[in-house]
Amino acid sequence: MKKCLCSICHHRLPKEKFYPEKKRAGGVSSRCIHCQKNYDKKRFWGGRQAYFEKYRVNNIEKVRAKWKAQYALKIGKLIKKPCEVCGKKKTEMHHPDYGHPLKVRWLCHKHHIQLESGSLGERGIYL
Ligand SMILES: [Zn+2]
Ligand SMILES: [Zn+2]
Ligand SMILES: [Zn+2]
Repeated sequence: MKKCLCSICHHRLPKEKFYPEKKRAGGVSSRCIHCQKNYDKKRFWGGRQAYFEKYRVNNIEKVRAKWKAQYALKIGKLIKKPCEVCGKKKTEMHHPDYGHPLKVRWLCHKHHIQLESGSLGERGIYL
């Protein structure tokens, strides 16, 4: 029986202990099934954690910036402006940088969504 070497646990195992992988020379994966499963699990959770952490940090900044801007608006430090694209009076705040809570841009709902999605770039308007 042909045995293959696992690149992770360095055990020589029968071919059946590996996932088939046609594009490789031996026709099987370089990791045994057991190691492959561990690897996938680790990669899956590692990726998730990084994602949630980034999301959490982003969100705290976002909430903080919005809150500060709302307050500045209330005390008159920040003044509501019409949409910078179409001039519509009913506008929403857009923060190009949450690190600068009082640096906001005013856009109507429609143009705000377009700006966030990047489709206003065609008109020369960027975040
Ligand atoms: Zn292994
Ligand atoms: Zn608009
Ligand atoms: Zn926005």
